[in-house]
Amino acid sequence: MFLSDKFGRPITDLRIAITDHCNYKCVYCRTGNDGALYSDLPFADYLRMARVFAGLGIKKVRLTGGEPLLRKGVVDFVRDLAQLRSADGEPLELALTTNGHLLAELAQPLKDAGLQRVTVSMDAVDPERFARITRVPNGYDRVLAGIRAAKRVGLEPVKVNCVLLRGFNEDQIIPFGMFAREEDVVLRFIEFMPLEEDRVWSPDVVVTLNEILRRMSEYRPLAEIPHARSETARRYRFDDGIGEIGVIAPVSQPFCGHCSRIRLTSDGKIRTCLFSVWDHDLHAQMRRGASDSQLEDFIRGVVQKKEERHHIGEADFVPASRTMVHIGG
Ligand code: SAM
Repeated sequence: MFLSDKFGRPITDLRIAITDHCNYKCVYCRTGNDGALYSDLPFADYLRMARVFAGLGIKKVRLTGGEPLLRKGVVDFVRDLAQLRSADGEPLELALTTNGHLLAELAQPLKDAGLQRVTVSMDAVDPERFARITRVPNGYDRVLAGIRAAKRVGLEPVKVNCVLLRGFNEDQIIPFGMFAREEDVVLRFIEFMPLEEDRVWSPDVVVTLNEILRRMSEYRPLAEIPHARSETARRYRFDDGIGEIGVIAPVSQPFCGHCSRIRLTSDGKIRTCLFSVWDHDLHAQMRRGASDSQLEDFIRGVVQKKEERHHIGEADFVPASRTMVHIGG
C-alpha cells in the first residue's frame, strides 16, 4: 500500500533539506543575526531515508535547505538519488530549490548527475533591491548567471520563485513579467506566509493572487492555463503566448486539500505540514537501529498525523515550531 493520509491524500512528493545553513539573509525569512540552528546528517542517512520513502510510493524528491548548494557533496548525492527507483520501478523526479548564488558553477555537474529541474528564488530583478532583500552585496549578477547556466544545460523548465511583500518589492511585479519573457523562465509568485524568523507577517503585508494578476494585466493581458486540481500554482500565459507566470496562493486560496508533500529537515525530522507544531524524529529511529521495515512503519504512522489544513489568518493560528529556512521550502 502506497502512502496516503487519513484524508485520502496520496503522499508522493518528498522535500529534503540537506543543510540548515544559508548564505543569504533575506529580510522576510531570517533575522540576519541567527545562523544555522540544526545539524546536517551524512548524505548516506538522507539516502537511506529517501530509499525507504521511494519504496512507499514517493515519486518526486526536491532538495532544499537552508541553501542546498552550500553542502559539499551535493552532486554525488544527486547521482546516488538518481539510482533509486520509486515503488513502481520508475526513476525518481529530481529537483532542487536554490537561491542560485552558486548555481552557475554547479548547473552542469548537477545535470550530469541526474538532476532534472531547478527552481531559483529571486525577489527582485534590480541589483540594488536584490542586495537589500538578501543582505548580500553583488548577488544579483551571480544569480542571473546561475539561471542562464541552468537553462543552458537543460535543467528545464527553470522556475523563478518570487515572494512579494507590500511596501517592499510589490513594484517588481511588472519587471518580473518582463524578466520571465526576456529570460524565457517560468515565473512563480508565492504569497508570503507566516514562517519567518522575525515576526513581520500580517495579512496586510501579503500581496495576493488577485492583486498580482490585476497589476500584471496592466502590463499585458493574461490568459489562464488550465491546471490539474492537484497543481499548487494557478498558471497564466501572456496574450502573445510569450512567457508564463504563476501564482502560488497558500494564503488567499489554500490548496491543502491537494497537498501531496512531506518534508525531511536537515537533522532528519519528518514534517507533515509547513505549519506543523511538532516534528517526528526519523533519524532517532535509525540511530536506535531500526530496520527498513520499521522505518516504513514509523513513516506510515507519521503520515496518518498529517494536518488537514493550515490555519493562516485564523484566530486559532499557532505559529509553526520551525521557520521556513529551518524546514526547507
Ligand atoms: N535557499 C533556497 C532558496 O533560496 O530557494 C531554499 C530554501 S528557501 C527557505 C525556499 C523558498 O522559501 C524560497 O523560495 C523562499 O523565497 C521561500 N520562503 C521563505 N520564507 C517564506 C515565507 N515566509 N513565505 C513564503 N515563502 C517563503
